[in-house]
Amino acid sequence: MSAPLHKARPAGPGRALPDTQQGMRRRNLSRVMHTVSAEGPLSRAAVASRIGLTRAAVSTLVDELIRSGLLEELGPERPGRVGRPGSALAVSGRGPAGIGAEIGVDHLAVCAVDLRGRVRSRAVRHVANRDRSPGPVLGELTELTERVVAEVEAEGLWPAGLAVAVPGLVARDARTVVRAPNLGWLDTDLGDLLPAGLPLTVANEANFGALAELWLGEGTPRDFLHVSAEIGIGAAVVVDGRLLHGNRGFAGELGHVPVRPDGPECACGGRGCLEQYAGEEAVLRAAGLEPGEDRVGLLAGRAEQGDPDVRRALEDAGTALGIALTGAVNLLDPESVVLGGALSGLAPWLLPSLRSELARRTAGPACPVSVSPLGPEGPLLGAAHSVVRGVLDDPAAVAERA
Ligand SMILES: [Zn+2]
Repeated sequence: MSAPLHKARPAGPGRALPDTQQGMRRRNLSRVMHTVSAEGPLSRAAVASRIGLTRAAVSTLVDELIRSGLLEELGPERPGRVGRPGSALAVSGRGPAGIGAEIGVDHLAVCAVDLRGRVRSRAVRHVANRDRSPGPVLGELTELTERVVAEVEAEGLWPAGLAVAVPGLVARDARTVVRAPNLGWLDTDLGDLLPAGLPLTVANEANFGALAELWLGEGTPRDFLHVSAEIGIGAAVVVDGRLLHGNRGFAGELGHVPVRPDGPECACGGRGCLEQYAGEEAVLRAAGLEPGEDRVGLLAGRAEQGDPDVRRALEDAGTALGIALTGAVNLLDPESVVLGGALSGLAPWLLPSLRSELARRTAGPACPVSVSPLGPEGPLLGAAHSVVRGVLDDPAAVAERA
């Protein structure tokens, strides 16, 4: 590392409080942060009335959050109001930043998002990662991370944590990639290979994509299935605004749901999995095209020109998606299905057959299928925003670490 990713900061106040009081203080700090983040700029009085605490109590919390660099005062509110002018509060644009990273089969990406949700820096590298050992891949990812961190540090921000989206199964420790078949990785602890000093969370890219949809999408329901694809197909199940992880953390492996039990062999050991019909490479094969770098661009371009083979391959992929999703929809009864990641770029040609298959096979009114406005950026943004949400959820922890 050319520069330490995490600088020493003065410790936050209030450490001597007893546990219960400490717990209440932590919760109230979080309520202030969430309120200002969702509705700010707000005066202290407005925050107090929204969370039902006295103005004096809120002022103490706000002062602590300002000292920790998590809130800032924007100056006096507009004149003409009765009484002493208050200062409007906003979450800091110079405090902690969430660093999100994505390991794709043929790209690496890193971005930094500030507490206001703005992307402050971004770095992308196109590189073939398939069957490359984890060391060099994570070495390159570290380089990109350092570049992004240096850029935001120059703007007065500091990294609060690193979240990495991977195309594979991640253990419940949120560090170990148990299996990433399209990278060829098995039981790899990313914590050993990424910059030390930053709190690290590793998760399946479909999970981060779903969280991005939940946090950044407009009118996203609290119960939905998020389906995304690169070469593999992943899904995430969101129930009442929370990700369903499953017993081992592996929930959402829609790509390995059998569509035709006697179909072609799959890397997972099964046969006829959805991925064999609707994964990017499977669609390219079905259309008689060679898999290159910009697979979605190639398919979308040909489909737009009316190439009958590509259109048929995408229609069949939509049918396969519809069959696999029927099982999930019948089982879980979600409010909607959202197509994200690379699938969003192919949606115009996938949706008709997907929708009709789903309608034909599900009981009751068909589950609506929509397309993510975040597109392929979803997992990367979801990763960075997960760190930002962590700051809002427990600002005291961040202030103490800072
Ligand atoms: Zn499979």
